[in-house]
Amino acid sequence: MTAGHLQIDLTALAANWRALDAKTTVETGAVVKADGYGLGAAQVAATLASVGARRFFVALASEGIAVRAAVGPDAEINVFSGHMAGDTETIRDHGLTPMLNSIDQVTRHLEALPNHPFGIQLDTGMNRLGMEWSEWAAVAPVALSQHPTLVMSHLACADEADHPMNAYQLDVFEKMTKGISTPRSLAATGGMLLGEKYHFDLCRPGVGIYGGMPFEDARQVVRLDLPVVQVRALDTGEVVGYGNTWQAERPSRIATVSAGYADGLIRAMSDRALLWADDHPCRLVGRVSMDLITVDVTDLDDDPDYLTILGPKQSVDQLADRAGTIGYEILTSLGRRYSRQSLTG
Ligand SMILES: *Cc1c(COP(=O)(O)O)cnc(C)c1O
Repeated sequence: MTAGHLQIDLTALAANWRALDAKTTVETGAVVKADGYGLGAAQVAATLASVGARRFFVALASEGIAVRAAVGPDAEINVFSGHMAGDTETIRDHGLTPMLNSIDQVTRHLEALPNHPFGIQLDTGMNRLGMEWSEWAAVAPVALSQHPTLVMSHLACADEADHPMNAYQLDVFEKMTKGISTPRSLAATGGMLLGEKYHFDLCRPGVGIYGGMPFEDARQVVRLDLPVVQVRALDTGEVVGYGNTWQAERPSRIATVSAGYADGLIRAMSDRALLWADDHPCRLVGRVSMDLITVDVTDLDDDPDYLTILGPKQSVDQLADRAGTIGYEILTSLGRRYSRQSLTG
C-alpha cells in the first residue's frame, strides 16, 4: 500500500438521506454537485435513487451527464448555474432541467429549447445566483406561462439558526412567489433544520447526506487511513520539514505518512491536525508537503503501520476546525490518488 485508503460508506450515506427526509413532510431531493461532494456523483446518485430520491441537483450542466447515466431517464436533474451559453446540447441530450438565473437565461432557454423543462432561481438577498425582484417581475408572466418545474432560492446563513437573515430571506421568498402554483424550494441542509416554514414543497440537502454539519445526527460516511512510510528517532532540538517549523522538545519519534496537500490535506493543517492510531491522538508536526506529512508518534507503544485522519475519532468537521475551514472543503478536496472503496449493505 502506498497511497491512502478512502472508504465511502454508502449505507451510512443512504441512512443520512432517509433521516433528513424523515424530518419533513415534503419531498427531499439530493445535491450531488462537485462529484457528489468528492465522493463520486454516480455512485452517490445511484445509491440515493435506490432509496427514493427523485430530484438531483448539480452545479454545472456537464456534471449532469454522469448523474443521468447513474439514475436512469425518470429522475429530474436540476442545474444550479442554469442555461449558460454552450450548454444547450448537454441540457437537451441528457434531459437536464436548468434553473434559469436571469432574463438572458430565460430568453436563451425558451429560444433554444422551447418545451424543454426548466426551473427558476430567485435571489432573496445572498447576491450570488438568481433573479432579483425587478427582473423576476418583468419575466414572471412569460416564464410562468411555460410551467417551470420548480422555483427556488438559497439561504446565505442557514447554518446559524438565529441569524436574522434567515427570516428575512424567507419573507422575501414568500413575497416573490406569492400566488404561484409552481413547486417551491428554499432549504438546503441548514434550512431543513430551521423548521417547517422553510420546507415549502421540496428540500435539497447536500452536506448532511455526506455526514457533515449542520446535520449533527449524521452518520459518518468517510474513513481515511494513511500509510506510514517510515518512522525515525529525533534527539531534542532536531527539526522537522520545510522551513524547520517544528523542533523536538524531547527525544521524539516522527512518522512520515503518505499523503499531502496534493491529496487534499490542505497546508493550513500544518502543525495543527490530529491523526489517530486507534484511540490515540497523534499531532501532525511541521509543514504539510505535497505528498507527505510528518506526525509525532512518540507516545505510542509501537510504530503504527497507518494512521487514521478521518474516522470514528475525527469527523470531516472536526478535521476542518483544526485547519480553519469547513467540512465541505475537506470533503471536496479528498484526493484522486487514494485507493477508494465503497461499502454497501
Ligand atoms: C450547494 C447547494 C445546496 C446544498 O447545500 P448544503 O449546505 O450542502 O446542504 C443547495 N442549494 C444550492 C443552491 C446550493 O448551491
